[in-house]
Amino acid sequence: SGFATLGLAPEILRSVTEAGYTEPTDVQSQAIPAAISGVDLLVSSRTGSGKTAAFVLPALQRVIEARRDPAKKRERGQPSGPRVLVLAPTRELAMQVSKACSVYGRNVQGLRVATVVGGVPYIAQLKALRGPLDILIATPGRLIDHMGSGKAMMSQVELLILDEADRMLDMGFIDDIHHIAKELSAERQTMMFSATFDGTVGGLAKELTHDAQRIRI
Ligand code: AMP
Repeated sequence: SGFATLGLAPEILRSVTEAGYTEPTDVQSQAIPAAISGVDLLVSSRTGSGKTAAFVLPALQRVIEARRDPAKKRERGQPSGPRVLVLAPTRELAMQVSKACSVYGRNVQGLRVATVVGGVPYIAQLKALRGPLDILIATPGRLIDHMGSGKAMMSQVELLILDEADRMLDMGFIDDIHHIAKELSAERQTMMFSATFDGTVGGLAKELTHDAQRIRI
């Protein structure tokens, strides 16, 4: 299929086939190879365009590649934070991303995904944050709470994804996003998804990305 040329690992391609997809959508065929190449991306594409898979598939690819890298080996019993951090404006959107990670990551052995959103008890989230995580999906406010209590370690994040960045700013999350970004390595890759990159969200993009490639669908 058209997915085979995007640079994705066999276990990801298998889940895509099992999901019944035959061809990548426009945003997927543009964003996935660029994301895998390691560049920062600023992407505008609407809901329904397949944008969730456009960042979840490269996120899974990153997890698989990190596991193959002897320099990134994790010691048993050592606390280790996520490789990929996805920020989303609402609980509903975060849950949707989480679901996509399970569907597209179903053939990735031992994949560990945690979701941290407001409005649910802390105790279950604390359990999920323990141990070696691959992907953490969060709404900014609740993630800040966990970081404040030392329960969420952000130093190992290699890929930061902001879904619906414009909406996150509309909802007043700018300070939280700055706070979270400060904890991340400057070496990380960043992908931002937003309807526009004008005004405040353009400013945020300048702060968080480096030589970003712009994709408009
Ligand atoms: P999204 O824009 O991420 O909300 O995705 C919209 C819908 O398109 C979801 O229900 C996906 O399951 C579906 N979808 C995503 N990528 C593809 C694809 N390449 N082929 C067919 N359906 C897809």
